Amino acid sequence: MTNAAAHNEFPFHAMDANQMTKTEEEWKKILTPEQYHVLREKGTEPPGSGTYEMVFEDGIYKCAACGNPLFDSKTKYDAHCGWPSFYKPLTDKSVTYHSDTTMGVERIEVRCGKCGSHLGHVFDDGPQPTGKRFCMNSVSLDLGKRR
Ligand code: FE
Repeated sequence: MTNAAAHNEFPFHAMDANQMTKTEEEWKKILTPEQYHVLREKGTEPPGSGTYEMVFEDGIYKCAACGNPLFDSKTKYDAHCGWPSFYKPLTDKSVTYHSDTTMGVERIEVRCGKCGSHLGHVFDDGPQPTGKRFCMNSVSLDLGKRR
C-alpha cells in the first residue's frame, strides 16, 4: 500500500491526542519487561510465542497497558501468521493508525486509541468483510469477559 492510499483509507493521527499520559518510568512499574518492550518500545514478540494466537474464547480483547477495549473475539481469525489477528477493531476510536517506515518497508502501525501504546500493524491480506489483518502482539492484549 502506498502512503497516499493508506492516508485515504485510515485516519492517520499525527500525534496521540485524547490520550492518557504516563511517564515511561510509570509504565515500567505497571508493565512486565516483555509488555514494556512491545507496548512502549514498539517491540514485536517472536511469532508463535504469544498467549492468544490460537485462543478463540468469547470475550473482548483490551489494551494490556490501560484496559481500553480494542477487539471483539468474534472478529478474530486464524491468520497462520504467528500472532493473534482480527479483521477489525472494536470501534473507530479503539485504535489509531501511524505510518511506520522502519525495517525498510512501509507499514501501518496500530496503537491503542487511549494510551498510545504499540499494539502491532495492520495489513491488507485479511478476510472479508474488511480485507484487513490486524496483526497484534499477544503481550499487548488482555482478554476479558464481554459485559
Ligand atoms: Fe492502552
